[in-house]
Amino acid sequence: MIRAVIFDLDNTLIDFMRMKDEAVRAAADAMVDAGLEMSREKAIEGIEEVYREKGIEYQQVFDDFLEQKIGTIDWKILASGVLAYRRSREAHLVLYPHAQLTLVRLAKRGLRLAVVTDAPRREAWLRLVTLGLHHIFDVVVTFEDTGEVKPDPAPFLRALELLGVEATETLMVGDWVERDMVGAGQLGIRTAFARYGDVFSKKDSGADYEIDDIAELINIVENVS
Ligand SMILES: [Mg+2]
Repeated sequence: MIRAVIFDLDNTLIDFMRMKDEAVRAAADAMVDAGLEMSREKAIEGIEEVYREKGIEYQQVFDDFLEQKIGTIDWKILASGVLAYRRSREAHLVLYPHAQLTLVRLAKRGLRLAVVTDAPRREAWLRLVTLGLHHIFDVVVTFEDTGEVKPDPAPFLRALELLGVEATETLMVGDWVERDMVGAGQLGIRTAFARYGDVFSKKDSGADYEIDDIAELINIVENVS
């Protein structure tokens, strides 16, 4: 019997890549409007380059971008980019269809719910609170909580401990095969691969279940004995 469900956050509950793309586009437009002499496309490319170098959560992305492209930080351009980025990100921070419903249904069935994410603690909590999800999870494990990223066992073990459940009565839902599915599977946690969030188009997930809609989880937890 499944007593707890652990969710990855980005690209499993939140359509993170879409949010990021929209925000980067808005920032590029705003910086060009503010006087950046560059095409919108070149600006988008340059910003994405910084993210590739420094990681997708890098906070000084526009500072680096301007330093690289024009050799200095023009504060009018920087502020325009940052503001447009923040506004767009807020507007496009959305859950996948049926995510809210699924979480409420699972909680009503008495299942314990957790998030295990490699995202920085501050960013993860900001996303959860923005989406109004902060009361539904019993446990939230972010990068700083163990200092290890998935597939290391540490974040999964921390979640199991805080949830008070055994690995075998837990289901892990995630979009990243190597991190979410392999990491959970090696501890004996059952796995559900969120095919809808997989940006790398993995063919074979090796997971116990594969889902195209998050609502499929309701049937899965009902039928696992
Ligand atoms: Mg993910």
